[in-house]
Amino acid sequence: MTDAQIEKRLAQQKRSQERARQRQLEKQRSPEYRAKQREKQRATAERQRAKALANKDKLVEKAKAQAETQRTRAIKRAKLNSNKPAARNKPIKSKGMAGKARTKSDMSLHDKLGQLGCICCINAGLIQPFSGSPVSIHHIRGRTTADAHKYVLPLCAWHHDTPVPQDSGVSSDIFPIHSKGSEGGRVRWEAVNGTQFLLLRQCLNMVCETGIIAEASDGNSGK
Ligand SMILES: [Zn+2]
Ligand SMILES: [Zn+2]
Repeated sequence: MTDAQIEKRLAQQKRSQERARQRQLEKQRSPEYRAKQREKQRATAERQRAKALANKDKLVEKAKAQAETQRTRAIKRAKLNSNKPAARNKPIKSKGMAGKARTKSDMSLHDKLGQLGCICCINAGLIQPFSGSPVSIHHIRGRTTADAHKYVLPLCAWHHDTPVPQDSGVSSDIFPIHSKGSEGGRVRWEAVNGTQFLLLRQCLNMVCETGIIAEASDGNSGK
Protein backbone atom coordinates (compact mmCIF):
# COMPACT_ATOMS: atom_id res chain seq x y z
CA MET A 1 0.00 0.00 0.00
CA THR A 2 1.29 3.42 -0.89
CA ASP A 3 1.32 6.28 1.55
CA ALA A 4 -1.39 8.03 -0.46
CA GLN A 5 -3.64 4.94 -0.29
CA ILE A 6 -3.09 4.68 3.48
CA GLU A 7 -3.96 8.34 3.91
CA LYS A 8 -7.12 7.92 1.82
CA ARG A 9 -8.22 4.89 3.92
CA LEU A 10 -7.50 6.77 7.16
CA ALA A 11 -9.66 9.67 5.93
CA GLN A 12 -12.50 7.27 5.07
CA GLN A 13 -12.25 5.65 8.53
CA LYS A 14 -12.35 9.05 10.22
CA ARG A 15 -15.42 10.08 8.22
CA SER A 16 -17.27 6.90 8.96
CA GLN A 17 -16.36 7.17 12.70
CA GLU A 18 -17.60 10.77 12.70
CA ARG A 19 -20.88 9.69 11.11
CA ALA A 20 -21.33 6.96 13.70
CA ARG A 21 -20.61 9.44 16.49
CA GLN A 22 -23.22 11.87 15.08
CA ARG A 23 -25.82 9.09 14.83
CA GLN A 24 -25.11 8.09 18.44
CA LEU A 25 -25.46 11.72 19.61
CA GLU A 26 -28.77 12.07 17.78
CA LYS A 27 -30.00 8.84 19.31
CA GLN A 28 -29.00 9.98 22.81
CA ARG A 29 -30.83 13.28 22.29
CA SER A 30 -34.07 11.53 21.32
CA PRO A 31 -36.80 11.42 24.07
CA GLU A 32 -37.36 7.68 23.49
CA TYR A 33 -33.71 6.90 24.13
CA ARG A 34 -33.65 9.08 27.23
CA ALA A 35 -36.79 7.44 28.61
CA LYS A 36 -35.26 4.01 28.01
CA GLN A 37 -32.06 5.02 29.82
CA ARG A 38 -33.99 6.38 32.79
CA GLU A 39 -35.96 3.14 32.97
CA LYS A 40 -32.72 1.14 32.88
CA GLN A 41 -31.23 3.22 35.71
CA ARG A 42 -34.41 2.87 37.76
CA ALA A 43 -34.39 -0.90 37.29
CA THR A 44 -30.74 -1.13 38.28
CA ALA A 45 -31.36 0.97 41.39
CA GLU A 46 -34.38 -1.19 42.24
CA ARG A 47 -32.34 -4.40 41.92
CA GLN A 48 -29.60 -2.97 44.17
CA ARG A 49 -32.16 -1.88 46.76
CA ALA A 50 -33.79 -5.31 46.78
CA LYS A 51 -30.41 -6.99 47.12
CA ALA A 52 -29.45 -4.71 50.03
CA LEU A 53 -32.79 -5.48 51.72
CA ALA A 54 -32.26 -9.21 51.33
CA ASN A 55 -28.75 -8.90 52.78
CA LYS A 56 -30.05 -6.78 55.65
CA ASP A 57 -32.57 -9.45 56.55
CA LYS A 58 -29.80 -12.03 56.45
CA LEU A 59 -27.53 -9.88 58.67
CA VAL A 60 -30.36 -9.30 61.14
CA GLU A 61 -31.03 -13.05 61.20
CA LYS A 62 -27.34 -13.73 61.83
CA ALA A 63 -27.12 -11.17 64.66
CA LYS A 64 -30.26 -12.62 66.25
CA ALA A 65 -28.79 -16.12 66.10
CA GLN A 66 -25.53 -14.95 67.70
CA ALA A 67 -27.39 -13.12 70.49
CA GLU A 68 -29.46 -16.25 71.17
CA THR A 69 -26.32 -18.41 71.38
CA GLN A 70 -24.69 -15.95 73.79
CA ARG A 71 -27.82 -15.82 75.93
CA THR A 72 -27.97 -19.62 76.13
CA ARG A 73 -24.28 -19.80 77.11
CA ALA A 74 -24.70 -17.06 79.76
CA ILE A 75 -27.63 -18.94 81.31
CA LYS A 76 -25.58 -22.15 81.36
CA ARG A 77 -22.64 -20.35 83.01
CA ALA A 78 -24.90 -18.69 85.59
CA LYS A 79 -26.42 -22.10 86.47
CA LEU A 80 -22.94 -23.63 86.87
CA ASN A 81 -21.71 -20.70 89.01
CA SER A 82 -24.77 -20.73 91.24
CA ASN A 83 -23.58 -24.11 92.53
CA LYS A 84 -20.25 -22.63 93.58
CA PRO A 85 -19.72 -20.34 96.60
CA ALA A 86 -19.45 -16.67 95.61
CA ALA A 87 -15.76 -16.33 96.47
CA ARG A 88 -15.51 -12.74 95.29
CA ASN A 89 -18.21 -11.49 97.64
CA LYS A 90 -16.75 -13.05 100.78
CA PRO A 91 -15.85 -10.43 103.39
CA ILE A 92 -12.15 -10.27 104.21
CA LYS A 93 -11.51 -11.62 107.68
CA SER A 94 -8.27 -11.74 109.59
CA LYS A 95 -7.35 -15.33 110.36
CA GLY A 96 -10.96 -16.35 110.83
CA MET A 97 -11.34 -14.51 114.16
CA ALA A 98 -14.30 -12.30 114.98
CA GLY A 99 -13.84 -8.58 114.43
CA LYS A 100 -14.10 -5.79 111.93
CA ALA A 101 -13.30 -6.51 108.32
CA ARG A 102 -9.95 -5.12 107.23
CA THR A 103 -9.87 -2.33 104.69
CA LYS A 104 -7.39 -2.31 101.83
CA SER A 105 -5.19 0.15 103.73
CA ASP A 106 -5.35 -2.08 106.84
CA MET A 107 -4.15 -5.04 104.75
CA SER A 108 -1.39 -2.94 103.22
CA LEU A 109 -0.25 -1.88 106.72
CA HIS A 110 -0.34 -5.49 107.99
CA ASP A 111 1.68 -6.64 104.98
CA LYS A 112 4.34 -4.01 105.69
CA LEU A 113 4.46 -4.87 109.40
CA GLY A 114 4.64 -8.56 108.50
CA GLN A 115 7.71 -7.87 106.39
CA LEU A 116 9.28 -5.79 109.19
CA GLY A 117 9.42 -8.72 111.63
CA CYS A 118 8.84 -9.01 115.40
CA ILE A 119 9.44 -5.55 116.87
CA CYS A 120 10.50 -6.97 120.27
CA CYS A 121 13.07 -9.31 118.65
CA ILE A 122 14.36 -6.38 116.56
CA ASN A 123 14.75 -4.20 119.67
CA ALA A 124 16.44 -7.07 121.57
CA GLY A 125 18.93 -7.41 118.72
CA LEU A 126 17.76 -10.96 117.98
CA ILE A 127 16.82 -10.27 114.33
CA GLN A 128 17.40 -7.50 111.83
CA PRO A 129 14.42 -5.50 110.52
CA PHE A 130 12.94 -6.95 107.31
CA SER A 131 14.90 -10.20 107.72
CA GLY A 132 11.88 -12.30 106.85
CA SER A 133 11.03 -13.84 110.23
CA PRO A 134 7.35 -14.78 110.44
CA VAL A 135 5.04 -12.76 112.71
CA SER A 136 1.47 -12.54 113.90
CA ILE A 137 -0.40 -9.26 113.80
CA HIS A 138 -1.22 -8.48 117.44
CA HIS A 139 -4.16 -6.14 118.07
CA ILE A 140 -3.37 -3.62 120.83
CA ARG A 141 -7.00 -2.49 121.25
CA GLY A 142 -8.79 -5.66 120.24
CA ARG A 143 -10.47 -6.21 116.91
CA THR A 144 -13.74 -4.33 117.27
CA THR A 145 -12.77 -0.79 118.35
CA ALA A 146 -12.46 2.15 115.93
CA ASP A 147 -9.31 1.77 113.82
CA ALA A 148 -8.72 -1.60 115.55
CA HIS A 149 -6.63 -2.82 112.60
CA LYS A 150 -4.35 0.20 112.77
CA TYR A 151 -3.37 -0.38 116.43
CA VAL A 152 -1.36 -3.51 115.75
CA LEU A 153 2.13 -4.88 116.34
CA PRO A 154 4.09 -7.50 114.43
CA LEU A 155 5.10 -10.11 117.02
CA CYS A 156 6.77 -13.51 116.78
CA ALA A 157 4.96 -16.42 118.40
CA TRP A 158 7.12 -16.26 121.57
CA HIS A 159 6.46 -12.55 122.05
CA HIS A 160 2.81 -12.97 121.09
CA ASP A 161 0.98 -16.03 122.36
CA THR A 162 3.24 -19.09 122.59
CA PRO A 163 5.27 -19.78 125.76
CA VAL A 164 8.93 -20.64 125.17
CA PRO A 165 9.49 -24.36 125.86
CA GLN A 166 10.99 -25.00 129.31
CA ASP A 167 14.75 -25.72 129.53
CA SER A 168 15.16 -24.35 125.99
CA GLY A 169 17.91 -22.01 127.18
CA VAL A 170 16.06 -19.00 125.75
CA SER A 171 16.21 -15.82 127.87
CA SER A 172 13.42 -15.48 130.42
CA ASP A 173 12.86 -11.99 129.02
CA ILE A 174 11.18 -13.59 126.02
CA PHE A 175 7.58 -14.47 126.89
CA PRO A 176 4.17 -13.93 125.28
CA ILE A 177 2.00 -10.89 125.89
CA HIS A 178 -1.04 -13.21 125.91
CA SER A 179 -0.02 -15.04 129.05
CA LYS A 180 -1.35 -18.29 130.31
CA GLY A 181 -1.17 -18.76 134.06
CA SER A 182 1.14 -16.58 136.14
CA GLU A 183 3.92 -16.40 133.59
CA GLY A 184 4.31 -13.19 131.56
CA GLY A 185 1.36 -10.89 131.13
CA ARG A 186 0.97 -7.46 129.68
CA VAL A 187 2.39 -5.42 132.61
CA ARG A 188 5.63 -7.35 132.82
CA TRP A 189 5.74 -7.64 129.01
CA GLU A 190 5.60 -3.84 128.65
CA ALA A 191 8.18 -3.41 131.42
CA VAL A 192 10.57 -5.63 129.41
CA ASN A 193 9.70 -4.66 125.81
CA GLY A 194 8.30 -1.13 126.13
CA THR A 195 4.70 0.03 125.99
CA GLN A 196 2.68 -1.26 123.06
CA PHE A 197 1.81 2.23 121.90
CA LEU A 198 5.45 3.30 121.79
CA LEU A 199 6.34 0.09 119.95
CA LEU A 200 3.50 0.82 117.49
CA ARG A 201 4.87 4.29 116.83
CA GLN A 202 8.32 2.81 116.34
CA CYS A 203 6.93 0.24 113.86
CA LEU A 204 4.92 2.83 111.91
CA ASN A 205 8.04 4.95 111.69
CA MET A 206 10.05 2.01 110.35
CA VAL A 207 7.48 1.21 107.63
CA CYS A 208 6.95 4.91 106.84
CA GLU A 209 3.28 4.99 107.92
CA THR A 210 3.49 7.55 110.72
CA GLY A 211 0.34 9.42 109.67
CA ILE A 212 -1.95 6.46 110.33
CA ILE A 213 -2.65 7.10 114.05
CA ALA A 214 -2.97 10.27 116.11
CA GLU A 215 0.15 11.15 118.11
CA ALA A 216 -1.72 11.65 121.38
CA SER A 217 -3.74 8.39 121.32
CA ASP A 218 -2.68 5.72 123.73
CA GLY A 219 -3.03 2.09 122.90
CA ASN A 220 -2.44 0.58 126.30
CA SER A 221 -5.76 -1.13 126.86
CA GLY A 222 -4.07 -4.16 125.22
CA LYS A 223 -5.76 -7.47 124.56
ZN1 LIG B 1 9.80 -11.70 118.97
ZN1 LIG C 1 -2.24 -10.56 120.07
